[in-house]
Amino acid sequence: MVNHKWRIPAMQGLGFRLAKGQVVRVTDVEGEQVADFAAYRADDTSERLDPSVTLDALRAIKVKPMDIIYSNKYRPLLTVMADTVGKHDFINSACRPEMYELLYNKQHHASCYHNLNTALAPFGIPAPDQHYSLNLFMNTVIHPSGQISIERPLSKPGDYIELRAEMDLIVGISACPCEESACNGYKCTPIDVEIL
Ligand SMILES: [Zn+2]
Repeated sequence: MVNHKWRIPAMQGLGFRLAKGQVVRVTDVEGEQVADFAAYRADDTSERLDPSVTLDALRAIKVKPMDIIYSNKYRPLLTVMADTVGKHDFINSACRPEMYELLYNKQHHASCYHNLNTALAPFGIPAPDQHYSLNLFMNTVIHPSGQISIERPLSKPGDYIELRAEMDLIVGISACPCEESACNGYKCTPIDVEIL
C-alpha cells in the first residue's frame, strides 16, 4: 500500500516519490508556516529544482497557475496547478545550523537543511553542500533600497499550492523549524502533503 497523504509534524521533514503527471498539494495547516520544497529527477539526481533558474526563465519572482518550475538544467520539472497564496520565496537557501548560530546565537538548532537531508537519504540522495529550495509560503519582501525583510507568511489556515510533476521526481519537504523570526509567524506548525 503506497501512502499518498501525510502530515509533516512541526519542525520535521518528509521524502516521497512523485511520478510524472501526478499532482502534489502542500497545505499550510494552521497558517503562516513555511515549507522548504526540494525536488530531484528520479533517474538522474544531478538534475534538481532550481529557484534561481526558475525566476530567470519566468522573468518573475512569483508564480501563478500554469507557470513552470525549472530544473538547474533549464528543463520543466513541475507546473503550478493551483495556488491560494501567490507569495513564495525563491531567493533564500534552506536554513541550517550555522545560520542559527550567526543570526540568533543558537547552537545545534533544527534546520531545513537537516530535515531535507534526512528525508532524501532513503532515496539515495547524498547531502548537498546546501539546499536551494523553493520556500513555499515564505514571505520575503524586497525593498527598493535593496534591503530584504522576512515577514509573516500571507498563508491562512488551509491555504495550499498544487504542483504537477513533469518528470518522475523525488521530493523532499521540510516544515521550517525557525521560530526565532516572522518567517513562520514565531511558531512552528505542521504541513499537510497529499498526492491527488
Ligand atoms: Zn527553514
